Amino acid sequence: MRVDLHMHSDASDGSLSPVDLVELVQRQRVEMMALTDHDTMSGVAQARARAREAGIVFIPGVEISTRWAGVVIHIVGLGLNEEHEGLQQFLAGICRQRETRGLLIAEKFDEIGIPGSYEGAMSLAKQQATLSRTHFARWLLAKGYVRQYQEAFDKYLKDGKPCCVTMSWPRIEEAIQLIHDAGGLAVLAHPGRYPFRNDWKLDQLFIDFKEAGGEAIEVCSGSQSEEHNRYCARTAGRLGFLASTGSDFHSESGVRPLPGDQATLPDDIPSVVQLLRSRFA
Ligand code: AMP
Ligand code: MN
Ligand code: MN
Ligand code: MN
Repeated sequence: MRVDLHMHSDASDGSLSPVDLVELVQRQRVEMMALTDHDTMSGVAQARARAREAGIVFIPGVEISTRWAGVVIHIVGLGLNEEHEGLQQFLAGICRQRETRGLLIAEKFDEIGIPGSYEGAMSLAKQQATLSRTHFARWLLAKGYVRQYQEAFDKYLKDGKPCCVTMSWPRIEEAIQLIHDAGGLAVLAHPGRYPFRNDWKLDQLFIDFKEAGGEAIEVCSGSQSEEHNRYCARTAGRLGFLASTGSDFHSESGVRPLPGDQATLPDDIPSVVQLLRSRFA
């Protein structure tokens, strides 16, 4: 079965609408999909309706930003009820905080002689979208302030750079608890992508994630190397995590694989797929 359990629409920082994303997923012959926008489930209803017409098993999802040991860690929630009140309040709070952060980022750009960035970033984020640093980066590129997208992060937006504003993301325990309260599974996203200098830090993250109740890790991710995929497969076996898989698709012009084109899960480790299929197919 072709499965993709990590994808973005323009409800966060993806480029396709939820409906256009599902249509691409269908062309890619993916049979089970999850929509996992950053800190919002506002695209889920539209995507689910279109997936139902297309005969694709649809898993409602979200990718929650958290902070652990000073690093931003992404946790994917799969199969949650988007109408759960506690979850809705939590996500709405993060989206408000993202807007406030956007204003603070824009002040910093004003100070260094780059005006109009809040309006610019907001025009790229649709109104219901979660405002992201990626919208600022795309605006800077469109306006010619940087020659390449990556330069926007390296010069202005990444940690320690002049226009970075730190958010108070929740702890991993809080995010996992909320995902569970809303009936979902908690999945550690792209474990290979975090900026740890030492391997033991990643291992400590796996252990803390497990202790906090996390059920699964991404063993195949379009946003980590094949070597990290293999390391995650071994870790899943060693620590008793279920395996998950996703392209982390954002746009057709991106460097990530298209929906469903990430590496295939090894069939000798238990995965979230069977569990989700029994609930959603
Ligand atoms: P935000 O959640 O608004 O803080 O934005 C985080 C997103 O920005 C991540 O999901 C990445 O897509 C992107 N990003 C963060 N750091 C970098 C970086 N150093 N280089 C390129 N993109 C980055
Ligand atoms: Mn993103
Ligand atoms: Mn992520
Ligand atoms: Mn993602």
